[in-house]
Amino acid sequence: MKDHSTLEQKGNDPEANAQPEMISEAVSGVRSLRELIDRVMGKALYLPEIQEDSGIAELIPFPFLAIVNQYEMKMALLLALINPAMGGVLLIGPRGTGKTTAVRGLLDLLPLVPKSLCYYGCLPEDIETMGIDGVCPDCARKYAEGKPLAVMDRVRLGELPLNARLEDVIGGIDERAAVHHRLRLQRGILAQADRNVLYVDEVNLLDDDIVDALLNAAAQGSYTVRRGPVSATYRSRFILIGSMNPEEGNLRPQIQDRFGLRVIVRGLDNDEERLEAYRRVKAYMANPRSVAAQFRLETEVAREEIQLARELLPEVELPDEVAKLGLRWIKELGVDSLRAEITLFEAARAYAAADARQVVEPSDLKQVAPMALRLRKSAFMSDYLSQQEAEQAQLKFIMEKD
Ligand SMILES: [Zn+2]
Repeated sequence: MKDHSTLEQKGNDPEANAQPEMISEAVSGVRSLRELIDRVMGKALYLPEIQEDSGIAELIPFPFLAIVNQYEMKMALLLALINPAMGGVLLIGPRGTGKTTAVRGLLDLLPLVPKSLCYYGCLPEDIETMGIDGVCPDCARKYAEGKPLAVMDRVRLGELPLNARLEDVIGGIDERAAVHHRLRLQRGILAQADRNVLYVDEVNLLDDDIVDALLNAAAQGSYTVRRGPVSATYRSRFILIGSMNPEEGNLRPQIQDRFGLRVIVRGLDNDEERLEAYRRVKAYMANPRSVAAQFRLETEVAREEIQLARELLPEVELPDEVAKLGLRWIKELGVDSLRAEITLFEAARAYAAADARQVVEPSDLKQVAPMALRLRKSAFMSDYLSQQEAEQAQLKFIMEKD
């Protein structure tokens, strides 16, 4: 079991003590990320008289933990940070439900990952899995000399602009090198997103070729670009987060299926919650720094918890009887896609890790199953299959007559 004692020590942090108004009851003695999220839900925000803003144009995201309710959306995004193998998240809902605010709020929660020091993106883990041939000759030499191949670096949050061209996305000829009659390829957005989070707002409005490139790269973890005589293969193991407003156009079912978790984001229907959300947004618009400061401690604890959960994840086991339960649900629902169980099990492992446990329990499956399994049933496929069955029966009937 991972040692969570650092959390308890947090309260004794001299820097935190220097600002007593920021110390919140929500974080004292928190044992896991899941517990923290539950507690912060009940936190009341202190709403001061509107103060003068400092006037510095600096991007301070609305604190993720200050978003009122929207539990499923928040949990899905945190699980994606804990376990990239889950296959990312698709947020589905009308405008103004805080989808983009939530994603941008992840900025303060991003974990540390090893980042390659090499152009080809070689990592020590490649040697662990593939041996010394798994890295480029330069890195093989560095490894032999005991030099580091990677440094720990914060995961970045990138956004794919809606007007991006395919060339921007996958990369293309380096125009500057071309001036000097050298043919060289330039990294695209997908290669830059390697090991990072890539957010695609309005993913349903992207061109089909871009969506295909995006999803293929995300699924395979690498992609190859060929331009005339030159080609290059790039790593692209990123956490994909998409959002869409179904009023503005549908997403092809086969694309929808390729996102791990699916969250239906609705507006808040409780009057008190709506009012609280309004107050918080108003306070943030007036003084983003003050609102961010009030959630600073919880945010730091959450970031640490996410890191701990990520480190715990490889040790989290899925017992056979729990897996069989999940498979039964999938079968009863009539979901064909194999991605259903991959996402269900990986999300449940992340959920157990977020709760600081090493064994997945049926209750973990229950928590993530709606997000992992909804919108996976293809109406086309079930119509197609029932037609097939009818035809099969008819064939049998025809043949049996003779
Ligand atoms: Zn290398």
